[in-house]
Amino acid sequence: MLKAERYRHFVEYFSQNQPNPVTELHYNNPFQLLVAVILSAQCTDKRINQVTPALFERFPTAQDLADSTSDEVFSYIRSVSYPNNKAKHLVGMGKMLMEVFNGEVPSGIENLQKLPGVGRKTANVIASVIFEEPAMAVDTHVFRVANRIGLTNNARTPLAVEKQLVQNIPKEHIAVAHHWLILHGRYICLARSPKCDVCPLTWFCRYYERNNIEAALKRAEAAKEKKVKEAKKKKQLNTISKELKKRSVDN
Ligand code: SF4
Repeated sequence: MLKAERYRHFVEYFSQNQPNPVTELHYNNPFQLLVAVILSAQCTDKRINQVTPALFERFPTAQDLADSTSDEVFSYIRSVSYPNNKAKHLVGMGKMLMEVFNGEVPSGIENLQKLPGVGRKTANVIASVIFEEPAMAVDTHVFRVANRIGLTNNARTPLAVEKQLVQNIPKEHIAVAHHWLILHGRYICLARSPKCDVCPLTWFCRYYERNNIEAALKRAEAAKEKKVKEAKKKKQLNTISKELKKRSVDN
């Protein structure tokens, strides 16, 4: 199947079956989403949603973070991964929002990436979710699922995956496609053992196609070997039977 066809099926399937996917992180405004996404690096959304209610209550604005210390922020996020670094980033992010961006979350991934703790992936999430820009955040799920389905070819880095996806997904679907891929990777196309038996994408998935062809080839090979062995055995039995008959005639 051509790559363009896979893209068409991918967009058609999810547009019809999951037209309005949303992030599983809990937030009420752009500032809270920015904090939650910074915290979510190398951590689960579930864990982040457990710590953010108290964190948002204590630090409702960028000013509150800017006025705090990383030690205090740490005490609210100690159960997430890399709490020391993330606490420092959050305080630094609050300060920069106040000093450079009037306390508001800026638009545009270049501006967003200036903030401490904000890499390209986080910037793309904010750009697509808050500002509805056609930005594609590539995390581990997006990276894996796009490759398995066959939406990417030889894309070895998140940036390469991002470029190929942005180039091929119609502009109006890029922002939601990020959620489609993440949710599919989180619940069906699991890293260690993808649930292909319940996946609705098998008919255009490259991984499924390849594995099925390989499995079919292996089955055919095994059947051929079995046939050859059986024919050999039959031949041996015939030879023995003829020999026995000959001996009985001679006697
Ligand atoms: S068929 Fe399997 S490998 Fe392909 S997307 Fe579905 S779960 Fe993933």
